[in-house]
Amino acid sequence: AGKVEFRNVHFEYSEGTAALRNISFTAKPGETIALVGPTGAGKTTIINLIGRFYEIKDGQILIDDVDIRDMDKNSLRSQLGIVLQDAHLFSGTIRENIRYGKLDAGDEEVEAAAKQANAHAFISKLPLGYDTELTAEGGNISHGQRQLITIARAILSEPALLILDEATSSVDTLAELQIQEAMKKLLQGRTSFVIAHRLSTIRNADMILVIEDGEIAERGTHEELLARK
Ligand code: ADP
Ligand code: ADP
Repeated sequence: AGKVEFRNVHFEYSEGTAALRNISFTAKPGETIALVGPTGAGKTTIINLIGRFYEIKDGQILIDDVDIRDMDKNSLRSQLGIVLQDAHLFSGTIRENIRYGKLDAGDEEVEAAAKQANAHAFISKLPLGYDTELTAEGGNISHGQRQLITIARAILSEPALLILDEATSSVDTLAELQIQEAMKKLLQGRTSFVIAHRLSTIRNADMILVIEDGEIAERGTHEELLARK
């Protein structure tokens, strides 16, 4: 599972201004698709549409050959693991945050996911460990550490489709390395869309979509794009 297809997708947030025009591509199960291009090009919009955070009127988006408009929104979103730039955490403890989306997961599972995401080392240093309230004093953790927690959450929920915004501009170097490692593990064998800022992701991607002004300006592997220059 995990095939994603866009067919002639056109989208406007407000009438008359196209954010995406005539977007067509197929991501095969397990592939990593890198989305690159300048700010405002439409990368985030592609992600917004996959999760049905906005609805399209023109074109079609299919997951495993099913039009996403025919899917229940909650079951659609339960297939998605989303790790965004401004790592979204809920109030509650670190453990609850990692467990979110898989409420029946036991403590051991939560901790295994944290370990895999490289989040375990810093959590164990916190005075209350996994039970630290994120809103409490002790829960004052850095942006990079927050991101590791959201990665642990995504690992635990084993999504069919993974969506990553890998920008780490505000993250210290150590956290950046940890995040890179954790993301690599997360990507393996899973269909992934990565809003890519790092050359390493682009090099390894199965397909790079260069988005410019709402359109796919170029597509191919890193090698193919280089060969065309
Ligand atoms: P980024 O460059 O990382 O995508 P932005 O500052 O462009 O960050 O966007 C931040 C948020 O604001 C996004 O959720 C995006 O959907 C929303 N946004 C961007 N442009 C507009 C706009 N013109 N009107 C309303 N919301 C917008
Ligand atoms: P990127 O992710 O490549 O930076 P976006 O997909 O965020 O680009 O934006 C594509 C276009 O859509 C931009 O012109 C942006 O201003 C506009 N846009 C993005 N989000 C919104 C929104 N929520 N409401 C209105 N316009 C938006």
